[in-house]
Amino acid sequence: MGKQEDFVLRALEERDVRFVRLWFTDVLGFLKSVAVAPAELEGAFAEGIGFDGSAIEGFARVYESDMLAKPDPATFQILPWRGEGPATARMFCDIVMPDGSPSFADPRNVLKRTLAKAGEQGFTFYTHPEIEFYLFKDDPQPGVVPVPIDRSGYFDHAAHSDGSDFRREAITMLEAMGISVEFSHHEGGPGQQEIDLRYADALSTADNIMTFRTVIREVALGQGIWATFMPKPFTEQPGSGMHTHVSLFEGDQNAFYEPGSEYQLSKIGRQFIAGVLHHAGEISVVTNQWVNSYKRMMFGGEAPSYVCWGHNNRSAMIRVPMYKPLKGQSTRIELRTIDAACNPYLAFAAVLAAGLKGVEQGYELPREAEDDVWALSEAERRSLGIAPLPKNLNEAIEIAEQSELLAETLGEQVFDYFLRNKRAEWDEYRGQVSAFERDRMLPVL
Ligand code: GLU
Ligand code: MG
Ligand code: MG
Repeated sequence: MGKQEDFVLRALEERDVRFVRLWFTDVLGFLKSVAVAPAELEGAFAEGIGFDGSAIEGFARVYESDMLAKPDPATFQILPWRGEGPATARMFCDIVMPDGSPSFADPRNVLKRTLAKAGEQGFTFYTHPEIEFYLFKDDPQPGVVPVPIDRSGYFDHAAHSDGSDFRREAITMLEAMGISVEFSHHEGGPGQQEIDLRYADALSTADNIMTFRTVIREVALGQGIWATFMPKPFTEQPGSGMHTHVSLFEGDQNAFYEPGSEYQLSKIGRQFIAGVLHHAGEISVVTNQWVNSYKRMMFGGEAPSYVCWGHNNRSAMIRVPMYKPLKGQSTRIELRTIDAACNPYLAFAAVLAAGLKGVEQGYELPREAEDDVWALSEAERRSLGIAPLPKNLNEAIEIAEQSELLAETLGEQVFDYFLRNKRAEWDEYRGQVSAFERDRMLPVL
């Protein structure tokens, strides 16, 4: 038993923990949880806790349904919303097969594999997500348009606003779980909020995003309201993205930083951007995985629709932030495609793999887009070499199906399952007759 495991076992006694939730994530990004008694933990650290993988989305083919969840002691935290004495704690798990080998279906393992590949080249991958979401007055009812908790807009400060009370309680709870928050503010839509997590290595950030989604939902329920990470709940209001700032480090040096070069961006930084741009269409099904994700990216609203980059251009898919005098270590790029309803492990793995490919192959960075790319005509965009992102889930699936990069990154099992699942979602969606069609057609046809 290692030091961290010992620490957890001691904490269980000291904090009077009666239940330990073992958390892991299915292929679509939903959190799964199994609660065990503290007495089981020594065994769980040594061998894992068995469960039937075939009952989890994307986890197992029938003949290999026995799996084990092995808790990662570094992720031990008390759940603040469950109270103290007796307390409930949680740990994220790695999923392993009965012979102890990592499960190929485990999204956390997909990210770990990709991080290890970066590690072989001397790189650590850091991410910092800006997570947007809406707050509604009530829980969702079929066929009912949800009512936002307020009518405020971007950065609005309202006295006694429900949004700021919500953010204060949520941030307090996140910090109690060791998740540091950098900024928070009201976003552009009514009831829309943003909370930005501090920079951390990508595995910690992905775990933190899973925790974040749970905390936000718990705090909302506690306040009698409803939180959603749905990418585009309203046609007329901005969607919810998860812009993610990323960088590579070599030891304690930021590998994207080169003093004196344009935007202080090193060759590695430029090649990384080129890689993410080059493969953006292929990884779109992972960064934006739902039918609804593509509705966020078609109306402007500061969500990208085209494959391009810029330094002060909020219409660009990748932005090199310039708003503070960049000290070397904070040189980074902001990827604006990702939405908050993604599976963060798979999305970060795909982005990292695309960026690394750019570095390995020495891709040339295309010219930056200086204009508002939404305002350009189709012909102008074409002449500038600015391609569109996939316009809907179907296009994203078709491009992904041909992607070697994605197949290699996700591994055969996740790649097959994921694309089959997404194809089924699209097929079900495209057969739906909508209120839009009835409202338009019944009166005239
Ligand atoms: N809500 C916008 C999006 O969907 C982003 C707004 C912003 O620039 O923060 O990406
Ligand atoms: Mg925002
Ligand atoms: Mg942003």
